Amino acid sequence: MENAQTSFEIFRMQPQNTNSVLLCRGNDCVIFDAWGRATDWAHLLDARGLNLRAIYSTHGHPDHISAAPDLAKQYGAIWYLHPADRNLIGWGNEILDMFGLDHLCPHHDVSSDLVPGNVKVLPETDMQIIETPGHSAGGVVYWFPEYKILLSGDTIFRDGFGRYDLPGGSRGDLEQSISKIYDMNLPDDTYVVHGHGLDSTIKILRETNTVFKHYD
Ligand SMILES: [Zn+2]
Repeated sequence: MENAQTSFEIFRMQPQNTNSVLLCRGNDCVIFDAWGRATDWAHLLDARGLNLRAIYSTHGHPDHISAAPDLAKQYGAIWYLHPADRNLIGWGNEILDMFGLDHLCPHHDVSSDLVPGNVKVLPETDMQIIETPGHSAGGVVYWFPEYKILLSGDTIFRDGFGRYDLPGGSRGDLEQSISKIYDMNLPDDTYVVHGHGLDSTIKILRETNTVFKHYD
């Protein structure tokens, strides 16, 4: 997925299979859901000569933010997280333990509040931030209209939706959030990168994912 200047690259980060996304335009880049180790990301960015401008998280679970605080600090980048998920920083350390990753400090000074709406994520690269609580209270999805790419986080997967039994989760909210995405009427060929697992398209979700619908 790229044109002359902008590229989206998906990193399928084993073993949790979190999908991290690197968006580049020229030498500038941002990372969505920086899972794994900050030092590994730093090696990649430095090898490519990339300037990290920002990190955006779809939500605050550790398998989506583990590298964010250290990377943000190292590169002087801004880490955007929805304020309703700020209390998840430092939560769920057993997931990090499983992969030998350092715990996150709940008190740090590098994250910035994510605000819903339209932003220029990089110069001339428009992104829409849409609140989709339910998997966590501060979940969001990112929509790139020009590229017809949706980053869905753990709100919806190719074959189902995210769990709602973790802190801040709510089945009712999750259903309303799925309705919100469904009602956006995105084009069939919209490419959807989910927080975990295989990618899909809006057409695939409409035709094969029975939970992708409008909830009353
Ligand atoms: Zn999650």
